Amino acid sequence: MREKGNPEMATAGAALPLLVAGGAGFLGSHLSEQLLRRGGGVLCIDNLLTGELDNVAHLRADSRFELRRADISEALQIGAVRGIFNLACPASPIHYQADPVRTTLTSVRGTHQLLELAKHCGVRILQASTSEVYGDPAVHPQTESYWGHVNPTGTRACYDEGKRCAESLCFDYVRKYGVDVRVARIFNTYGPRMQTNDGRVISNFIVQALQNQPITVYGTGSQTRSFCYVDDLIAALLAFMDAPPGVASPMNLGNPQEFTILQLAELVIELTGSRSRLIFMPLPSDDPAQRCPDIERAREHLRWQPKVPLREGLRRTIHYLENVLRQPRRLPRSARPGLAPVHKDTPGPVAGSLEAIHVRR
Ligand code: UDP
Repeated sequence: MREKGNPEMATAGAALPLLVAGGAGFLGSHLSEQLLRRGGGVLCIDNLLTGELDNVAHLRADSRFELRRADISEALQIGAVRGIFNLACPASPIHYQADPVRTTLTSVRGTHQLLELAKHCGVRILQASTSEVYGDPAVHPQTESYWGHVNPTGTRACYDEGKRCAESLCFDYVRKYGVDVRVARIFNTYGPRMQTNDGRVISNFIVQALQNQPITVYGTGSQTRSFCYVDDLIAALLAFMDAPPGVASPMNLGNPQEFTILQLAELVIELTGSRSRLIFMPLPSDDPAQRCPDIERAREHLRWQPKVPLREGLRRTIHYLENVLRQPRRLPRSARPGLAPVHKDTPGPVAGSLEAIHVRR
């Protein structure tokens, strides 16, 4: 049976808010800001596990913005909305591995609840999926038609398989209920509002460089990633949500310029003028050796491609993190004061020792 949702809700739509799940997070807060700029209300729900009140402090004065502390994997009480963005899930390896069961349930139960809400309200939903659905890819660059190479029993599985299962739910809601679902496979994204201790490579390297501390390169640093500046990514999410029904999905969203982690480290040192040296540490398990999106689908269907080069995006991110480091109040408790190792108190992604295996000057 195909249901198209409640038509009354759909027509009453204009006055209703857009729901941003995970709206106080790194991406969610930028998205909420842009949505308010375009007009209309935003209902942000966030369990504040990795999201932060500081990220949306400047939006809370706007009467069109509402923040509710809620967890999408638990019972939700949400009225009618105009559309849904599901960005709720810890996305950095140290955070999603800290409570892996919860991570899986956030993706699976949480996405299920939001799909039900979309079906009930008869509205469009954008699901934030991830390049992690490709695992350690055997196809390069990754196209949307590639099914991936994921270890289902490893330490990254809670995130990778959780997101894969969420995608599967999305496409079943399309087929079974006719819900208008858009699945965005988001590749590595960076920019202001990354947490100083979130353990991701760009925030780690910048914070380390700004403090003249050793830059922690995992493995040999020959693994690659492709980094998309946050403003570019938000523009893509908006274009995807605005695209007419039937737009191609899933859709890779990211920057196709690929760098080795060593190249990134050297660029960060150059841009910060740091005296940091590199230290080499064990590679976390199942760490993908290469990652680069094929974005032809987004180019064709959304007329979108990233504009901000890595060098420029890093400058803006360095500026932001420099300011955060100057204000200890804004640092997570584990990183205050003195700011010594970036994620000393948070669980690391490496099974076994995190000790440096050698040091390079
Ligand atoms: N990485 C690193 N040093 C760090 C943090 C990460 O060398 O301090 C490496 C990590 O092993 C991976 C890449 O940088 O190969 C990107 O890691 P990140 O956690 O940012 O994202 P993901 O692995 O999910 O792409």
